[in-house]
Amino acid sequence: MSKEDLRKVVILGTGGTIAGVGAPGLTTGYFSGGMDIESLITGVPGLKKLAWLVGEQIANVNSDDITQEDWLRLTRRINELAKRDDIAGFVITHGTDTLEETAFFLNLTVKTRKPVVITGAMRPATALSPDGPFNLYQAVALAASPEAAGKGVLAVFSDAVYSARDVQKGSTFHVDAFSSDDFGCLGYIRDTKPYFYNAPVKKHTVETEFDVTELTELPKVAISYFHVDADPETLRFQYMKSDGLIIAGAGNGEMSLLWEKEMRAFEPYGKPIVITSRIHDGIVTLHREVPSNVLSGDTLNPQKARILLMLALTKTQNIPKIRRIFEKY
Ligand code: ASP
Repeated sequence: MSKEDLRKVVILGTGGTIAGVGAPGLTTGYFSGGMDIESLITGVPGLKKLAWLVGEQIANVNSDDITQEDWLRLTRRINELAKRDDIAGFVITHGTDTLEETAFFLNLTVKTRKPVVITGAMRPATALSPDGPFNLYQAVALAASPEAAGKGVLAVFSDAVYSARDVQKGSTFHVDAFSSDDFGCLGYIRDTKPYFYNAPVKKHTVETEFDVTELTELPKVAISYFHVDADPETLRFQYMKSDGLIIAGAGNGEMSLLWEKEMRAFEPYGKPIVITSRIHDGIVTLHREVPSNVLSGDTLNPQKARILLMLALTKTQNIPKIRRIFEKY
C-alpha cells in the first residue's frame, strides 16, 4: 500500500519514559524525554505501514513537569487539526506518571469524534525489551481504526484499551502498569486489531460544555491528602490559597473530627470542596450532612477530580451546578 492510501495519523510527542534514554539495557536511572518524536517513529519497525504518520513535538519532558500550558496547547492543536478531512486520528506519547491526568483533561476538552489515543512506556527506549515501541505500534493502529471513533480519549497500554476517565497508573515499575479497576478496560488490541466490549457512558469530547480555546490559565485547585494526625492548618492553608479544594479522604471520603471541623468552618467562604478517596476503587457517597459548599467527587480519583473542578470553575461558581457537573462527567 502506498503512503497516500493510508489513513493519516498525527503523533504528538510530549516526552516521558517512552522517549527515555539511559545506560544500555537498564530500566532505571534514565533521562525521560531524551528522544524526539521523529526518532521514536523511525525506531518502531512497521509503524509507517500502519498509517501515514506526521510527528509533532509539543514538549519533551518527564511527565511530572507537564503543565496546564502543555494541556491547553495539546487541546488547541488537536481541535485545530481535527477539522482537517485528511487527518483520521491522533496519538499522544506521554510519560506514565501523569498520563491519566492529561488523558482526562483532553477527554473533557477536545472537540472531535476522531480517535485520540494516549500511550507511554514503563521502560526507556534504551532498556532491554523496552515496552514503548509495542505500545506506540498499538496506539497508532488504534488511532487509525474507525472503530475507535466516538469513544472519548483512549489510553493504550500492554494490549488493553482504557477510557481516559477511569484509567489509572497502578504500579511504579511493572510493564502492565495501568488499569481501570472495577470498571475494567474498554477492550483489547492484538497486533493491529481492536476488540471493543464496553463504551464510556459519562459525557466526553464533543458532548462537554468545556471550551478552553481562549483560556491562558485554569482556576487554581489544590489537593489535601488526609492521613492519621493530619494537621488542620494544612487544610486551611490550601483552601485559602485556592479557588477550590479536593480532599483525598480515607475510605468513603472520611477524615478525622479535627479535619471535619476545619472543613465545616470554610462554609461561609463558599469556594467548593470536593471529597474524593485515597482508595483506588469505589464511589464517595457522602452519607452524612455536609456544608453547602461540599460535594462528592463520585468515582474520580483526587487528581482527576481536580481537573474536573478546574474546568467546572471556568463555567460557574454555583455549587449545585458544579455538583451536576460531577454527576455528568
Ligand atoms: N517519570 C516518567 C514520566 O512520567 C515515568 C514514565 O514515563 O513512565 O515521564
